Amino acid sequence: MSEEKSLNFIEEIVEEGINTGKYKTILTRFPPEPNGYLHIGHAKSICLNFGLGIKYGGKTNLRFDDTNPVTEDTEYVDSIKEDVRWLGFNWANEFYASDYFDALYTLAVTLIKKGLAYVDDSSAEEIAALKGTPTEPGKESPYRNRSIDENLQLFEEMKNGRYKDGEKVLRAKADLTSPNMHMRDPLLYRIKHAHHHRTGDKWCIYPMYDFAHGQSDSIENITHSICTLEFVAHRELYNWFIEKLEIFPSHQYEFARLNMTYTVMSKRKLLQLVNEGFVQSWDDPRMPTISGLRRRGYTPESIRDFCDRIGVAKRDNLIDVSLLEFCVREDLNKIAKRVMAVLDPVKLIITNYPDNQTEEFTADYNTQAEDAGGTRSIPFSKELWIEREDFMEVPAKKWFRLAPGAMVRLKSAYIVKCESFTKDESGNITEIHATYIPESKSGNDTSGITVKGTIHWASVQHALSAEVRLYERLFKAEDPGSEEGDFKEYINPDSLQVISKAYVEPSLKIADTATRYQFIRKGYFCLDKEATADKLIFNRTVTLKDAWAKEVKKS
Ligand code: ATP
Ligand code: MG
Repeated sequence: MSEEKSLNFIEEIVEEGINTGKYKTILTRFPPEPNGYLHIGHAKSICLNFGLGIKYGGKTNLRFDDTNPVTEDTEYVDSIKEDVRWLGFNWANEFYASDYFDALYTLAVTLIKKGLAYVDDSSAEEIAALKGTPTEPGKESPYRNRSIDENLQLFEEMKNGRYKDGEKVLRAKADLTSPNMHMRDPLLYRIKHAHHHRTGDKWCIYPMYDFAHGQSDSIENITHSICTLEFVAHRELYNWFIEKLEIFPSHQYEFARLNMTYTVMSKRKLLQLVNEGFVQSWDDPRMPTISGLRRRGYTPESIRDFCDRIGVAKRDNLIDVSLLEFCVREDLNKIAKRVMAVLDPVKLIITNYPDNQTEEFTADYNTQAEDAGGTRSIPFSKELWIEREDFMEVPAKKWFRLAPGAMVRLKSAYIVKCESFTKDESGNITEIHATYIPESKSGNDTSGITVKGTIHWASVQHALSAEVRLYERLFKAEDPGSEEGDFKEYINPDSLQVISKAYVEPSLKIADTATRYQFIRKGYFCLDKEATADKLIFNRTVTLKDAWAKEVKKS
């Protein structure tokens, strides 16, 4: 974050708290529910929470909000830890809301003892019916005025497994007339005879989100509990618990959740995409998950940069996905190794080049590192693959690539002149014949010829074949979640294009998933995790086209 950048509203709150001596140090937390993989929206929250900890010399906890035994799983816990680490953050402590089940139970008992909670035998429907509406006050449940002793006994029996799911709940005795529906005797505990991924079968009652979340913050002495706007209405209850239980006064602050164009951003919807086979997995490179973006070739730096650029908003908005693409291009432009790959190959034969000759050209990778990323050698020979689209039988105006009689430079090699070509019965070009100019060797060109076009290539006998996966947006609609009907109706059927036989230069034999490449003129690519020593597979992270930067310049 640059120095001159103005503070976001949460930083202002933090600085004021520090300046007025309210806090000596700050403690934030990132509290995912382990019921799915993290997405780019979570990255926003991670960057904000951990970013505050780092900026103000405080700390950040990772807390798994695992109070719903049915949907949670250790697979998700592991993926979340991996993703947070990969984004570049270290948590001070790894906690689980389930670690606090005993403490939360004790707090619930405290509320009962204070006459501030009661066991209700009403069904969910009955409770809803008595709750009223925002304009109409709620009515008392017939169980609201049970004695403290009876409540204590019933609650203990709930815990001991005496009742079935849904038979009883524990509710706060708050304010049935409050205009805030969350204050109308909210549920604190429900009965759920279910196995929990960490506590096993120890519990058959589980705390509700509101009761678990705020109290977990207090137990950890969290100073700034940052969540998204949908929790604004929960804040009153959050504070009510703190006041009534006289526990550590954590404060809740809300910011706008990140929404992005051409995608959906809720774990529930992402889970549907996986389960119903619209994508292959949570880490499918089309997914807006952290693991999907990682596999696609996004870097942690680019995601942090994106989160920084979008800022911390107080009102919901929709961020253009091309900003995310812009950020990754910015980063890849610095670090990517420039190499040659031919995605739609056609053969170019250099008729005046000796049959069995091979030359090795040394070319640097052209990264922005001090040593330009080092060098590699590229073999050149008589038969080359070039891109089909780099040849035009009848050239258009201002066509600077290959055409009958035209000259181009083969990148890092020679100038060639197209002499003739052959076609198959259906009219597809099968071979292009050219002559090369021996004096035009790159770096030592004495030919005196200048050409306007440079094209990439790969030597037929040396090139490695590779599968290349090109991705488009997963949805056709700008905001699929807000469209009529099922969001899945707006899926883009052409979001994945597989090129099964592309040719890449032999230096890519040692490609690894950590290295980022630019396939010259074709975009940024990375090795997919499914690649093997015998089968190279590359994902296109993003094209070179930079629509966003043009927009920015225009405005
Ligand atoms: P989802 O709706 O995608 O399932 P969630 O809010 O239920 O998300 P949690 O695991 O509860 O997911 O979220 C952990 C933290 O990440 C919370 O503090 C939540 O507010 C934050 N968060 C989730 N989605 C976004 C988003 N789109 N933008 C910013 N923060 C988010
Ligand atoms: Mg949630």
